[in-house]
Amino acid sequence: MKWMLEPFNETEKRPLYVRSMVKKTVEKDIKAQVRNEETLKDGRKGREKNISFAEGNEKPVQEKIAIVRCETVSEVCPGVACFKAFNKKKLHFKEYGNDTEIIGFFTCGGCPGRRVSRLVKSLIKHGLTTVHLSSCMMLDSDYPPCPHIEEIRKSIESKGLKVVQGTHH
Ligand code: SF4
Repeated sequence: MKWMLEPFNETEKRPLYVRSMVKKTVEKDIKAQVRNEETLKDGRKGREKNISFAEGNEKPVQEKIAIVRCETVSEVCPGVACFKAFNKKKLHFKEYGNDTEIIGFFTCGGCPGRRVSRLVKSLIKHGLTTVHLSSCMMLDSDYPPCPHIEEIRKSIESKGLKVVQGTHH
């Protein structure tokens, strides 16, 4: 795909994660039209279509958090209690102000938490500050507590992030 200078420069002004999303979208659309050159109009259309919802009106946010939960437990839990506790700023979320955003909610990917490091890394680009390990990883009830929680916690902390063990218990 040949990128013209003007749209290329326009796209390069965006943050890295936005840049790659716009490029992929534009290239897909152009291929569908059996063309191989990208114009400024294509670039703007791609941005409008896919990422404009996430741009502009950015308020300063104190904390951006993500929740990691157990892959096995996720088969029986849609995560309602984690979200309720966060929305009401209760239990392990009680220290946060109303300007705190939840920017990620994902399962660990199965033992020994194989997806955690990769997804945390990708959220750092979006301003992630703190990761909560869901209460399901610590409870000893229908499922045993996670035997890998220490490695998971250390791998997140090694990226310079704060880790909180718990969400709604
Ligand atoms: S690593 Fe821990 S949290 Fe992830 S599936 Fe295994 S037991 Fe569950």
